Amino acid sequence: MHIFAIANQKGGVGKTTTSVNLAASLALSGQRTLLIDLDPQGNATMGSGVDKQRLSASVYPLLLGEASLSEVRSVTSCGYDLLPANRDLAGAEVEMVSLDRREKRLKEALASHLNDYDFVLIDCPPSLSLLTLNGLCAAHGVIIPMQCEYFALEGLSDLVNTIKRVHANLNRDLKIIGLLRVMFDPRSTLSTQVSAQLEQHFGDKVFKTLVPRNVRLAEAPSYGLPGVLFDKASKGAQAYLAFAAEMIERVKKWEAK
Ligand code: ATP
Ligand code: MG
Repeated sequence: MHIFAIANQKGGVGKTTTSVNLAASLALSGQRTLLIDLDPQGNATMGSGVDKQRLSASVYPLLLGEASLSEVRSVTSCGYDLLPANRDLAGAEVEMVSLDRREKRLKEALASHLNDYDFVLIDCPPSLSLLTLNGLCAAHGVIIPMQCEYFALEGLSDLVNTIKRVHANLNRDLKIIGLLRVMFDPRSTLSTQVSAQLEQHFGDKVFKTLVPRNVRLAEAPSYGLPGVLFDKASKGAQAYLAFAAEMIERVKKWEAK
């Protein structure tokens, strides 16, 4: 099983869009996939067609050790399973502070389910909070979605430092899997410049797939669907399907080593 956190402390950079579309694309190619919504905004939950207002259980009691993974898990109509979230999760942040091993609650909740899935994706909130730390401690790697704009690079160093610190102190398995360029506009000079800079700095850590800005991806959540299921032929959907294929390819290479 491969556990990936989709993280960037910057808001609105495409974490949730990447999480739901990658989950649906992996499921379409026959991978057993679990998506974990670790954001009190519950966008990945709604975007998977699950009503965050009517959850019988969310990741919140799971993190506090009050519910098991099978009690919290919902089966979506998108081909993957989901651990849903809603605003309650904001309270978990506060309550967890006083708990033992507070950064490792999610990791421990997943421990007895390591054979249930091929891929587990964790949609992190836009912060470097205790929730995100739980995501980073549970994961083998981080996928960083980013827009190719000037300030994107600045925020990146904070994230890279946090990942280094987690690697040193909490989770020796953690590495950066790759940077995914999203909402890309090939006609913008800044986009192409920043994109080239990223390739220079991060080399093959930059995924080959470029996700373009595409309105169908933005419309899909209001139908409770990932873009790849809402309009599979759209440019955005095609990019996420290609990204999933690139991910599967990378994983096969590691497994062959
Ligand atoms: P937050 O930090 O609030 O969790 P996020 O990083 O999860 O945000 P998203 O919610 O995925 O970001 O995306 C932010 C907005 O941009 C959403 O309205 C989404 O529909 C839109 N969006 C994301 N990717 C694309 C794209 N490739 N093309 C067009 N719109 C996009
Ligand atoms: Mg989000």
